[in-house]
Amino acid sequence: MRELRLALGPDVADNSEHLNRRLRKLREFDWIIPSYKDDRTLPQDTYRLEAKGRRLWLATERKRANAGPKFSQRTRRIVLDRDGHRCKVCGVGAGESYPGEPGSKAKLTIGHRVPQERLRARGAADDIDNWRTECARCNETVRNELPDPEQYDEVTAEIKQLRKADLTLLLNWLRTGERSRSKLDRAYDRARQLSHAEHATLIAYVEKLLGYS
Ligand SMILES: [Zn+2]
Repeated sequence: MRELRLALGPDVADNSEHLNRRLRKLREFDWIIPSYKDDRTLPQDTYRLEAKGRRLWLATERKRANAGPKFSQRTRRIVLDRDGHRCKVCGVGAGESYPGEPGSKAKLTIGHRVPQERLRARGAADDIDNWRTECARCNETVRNELPDPEQYDEVTAEIKQLRKADLTLLLNWLRTGERSRSKLDRAYDRARQLSHAEHATLIAYVEKLLGYS
């Protein structure tokens, strides 16, 4: 941060607000610059330049940025790699079939964890920490295509392979009409929805609870 402020020059009044404005603008053009606030493993007042985006100071690239898709190839790759090429919502991997739908093939895309409008209302930045890997199905806000209904024989073929303990659990769910979730299931479901930076912090937190560190 100190170096960035020096680079801006001493003649810029209100240095820090000016710096924040510049960083926001760069992020809109695919520059990936997490700050110590986004990634708590960074020392205070530190930014990390992860990827250079489009050169917004060139008119040609500014135009392309407005016309092109929301996420550049490079941004897509970085987010997909970070998320292990799996949908952060349902966990499906690229090219895998959805559970109970043999022949279906998941396609991965990039979505927003918190909707952009909500972030804007809070004055928060929509940057890499808010982007996550989602399959096309979870990404769709309106589903105009319903999956094929299940076939009885396919369901029983799957059930036949379950171990006895799992069968007992399944029977219970079928009888009560709902899946009972353990505290552990719920904790994992909720933890999976945290941002990438929070995820890293959470791992350290659990390690500490276990006395690993
Ligand atoms: Zn999904």
